[in-house]
Amino acid sequence: MKFRLLVIDPQRDFCDGPCAGSLAVPGAHADMVRLAALVNRLAPDIDRIQITLDSHQLYHVANPVWWIDADGNPPPPFTVISAAGVEAGQWRARNPESQGHALFYVRELARKGNYPLTVWPPHCLIGTPGHAVHPELMAALLGWAGRTASPLSFITKGGNPGTEHYSAFRAEVEDPGDPATGPNPAMLRFIEEADLVAIAGEAKSHCVRATVTDLADALAPGLLRKLVFLDDCSSPVPAFPGGPDFPAIGAQFVRDLAARGMQVVDSPDFTV
Ligand SMILES: [Zn+2]
Repeated sequence: MKFRLLVIDPQRDFCDGPCAGSLAVPGAHADMVRLAALVNRLAPDIDRIQITLDSHQLYHVANPVWWIDADGNPPPPFTVISAAGVEAGQWRARNPESQGHALFYVRELARKGNYPLTVWPPHCLIGTPGHAVHPELMAALLGWAGRTASPLSFITKGGNPGTEHYSAFRAEVEDPGDPATGPNPAMLRFIEEADLVAIAGEAKSHCVRATVTDLADALAPGLLRKLVFLDDCSSPVPAFPGGPDFPAIGAQFVRDLAARGMQVVDSPDFTV
């Protein structure tokens, strides 16, 4: 029985409470404490652990520094920049050389039916404390690695400054010149070679939803029954003015995947 664990973006910048993350998701700290307890409880049974890490530079298309309005001011965090807003000149790239990409990017998001571009508070900047894994969870992960003499598999994503990368499997808009934005076959193999894969992480409405949906779309349909979503170890981004109803979208994602075969449990009820 190969039981594996996929943890999506369990980073301090997404955690509320003592982590005081820059993009704190309400409930994320408690999610990670529960997940740490599960890792400690089931450590002898876990075959491999894959952890995705949101990994940005400050100069990134979803950070305020990338954009300016008609007066030259950057957008505040949680501004939604639509294709119409860029076409009308309400928002433009601060670096004039990137204006072509600005227009291309927001139009591509609209064409694909993805979330419109949200300007986030800078988060998970490479080399900062906010990029690190939640401390209690990290202790549990290291405990597993030490106990089993096994490596943790880290997957970084979000390093391309021109696209958001909610899904760890592929970027919101793939860059043909950057293979890191394309599909990641290692994530598919991780599931295909397992008998059971428990999934948790942040945020339910964004990186968890996008990653699991992409993986489910790429896997043979019969394999979705291998997936077990730890529903009490993941929380959504709250709704904010001008943005979609993220909590409702996160809950709908879980129902949709359950209808396709994914199991959904709370962590205390989960046994291998
Ligand atoms: Zn991000």
